Formats: sequence, C-alpha cells, structure tokens
Amino acid sequence: MPRRQRKRKVFLPPYQRGWNSNNASTQETIYLNYDEYEAIKLLDYENMKQEEVAKLMDVSRPTLTRIYESARRKMANALVKNTHIEISGGNVEVHESWYYCHSCHVNFNLYDGTVFCPLCKKTDNISKRAEQIKNENQ
Ligand SMILES: [Zn+2]
Repeated sequence: MPRRQRKRKVFLPPYQRGWNSNNASTQETIYLNYDEYEAIKLLDYENMKQEEVAKLMDVSRPTLTRIYESARRKMANALVKNTHIEISGGNVEVHESWYYCHSCHVNFNLYDGTVFCPLCKKTDNISKRAEQIKNENQ
C-alpha cells in the first residue's frame, strides 16, 4: 500500500491564479501546484534556507528538494516556451486565517475578527481560502 502523503503547508496562496502568455499562438498551459509556488516563493523570492522552508511547509528536506526541482523545471519550461501558467492543485493545506473575495479576486487575512474584503468592504461573496483550495482539488 502506498504511503499516504502528508499535506504540505502553504501560508499565503498567490494573489493571482497564474499568468497569460503574450504568445498568442500558444495553447499550452504549465500547471504549477500551490506547494511548488510556495517553495519557489520562500526559497527564491524570500531567500529562506531549505531547512526553514521544509519546517514551514511541514515536509522533509528531500521532499522539499523534489517539490522545488519540479517547480523550477516547470517555470523554466514556461519561460522558454512562453506558455500560460496556472497555479492550482497539489496536496496542500492553507493557513486558516486567509480568505478570498470572489468579487475582487484577492486574498486577505482575518484582521480583527470581522471578515470583510479590504478592497470592496463587502462581507458576502467571501470564502475561506483553505476551503476553496480543497474544493479545487476535488
Ligand atoms: Zn472584494
């Protein structure tokens, strides 16, 4: 029986779901998982050390290395082939404090106990980001 994979922790999901290529002739989309996005963000953008990132994402060092290598291969492919990039899926668990406004398409953090979108100030059309990503994966 295959070992059950532990969920990888993602603190903050990306603001955008991806990018559209300016190459009008491409139909190709590279799919980056949320855990791959998180690994690239923490290692290459935040310049964190692999040990720290592995701890934050609740994975072993070798697992983090695999996630990171896969992410870099996908990003290199997308850059060279000028494809679209979509961030979705992956075996992840998003920090509970994040919400998503479906009107403005932004993520925001629960601030003082009242859940409202910081852009449109609405309190409806909002969902927990963790729940939303769980649904995307089904
Ligand atoms: Zn909003």
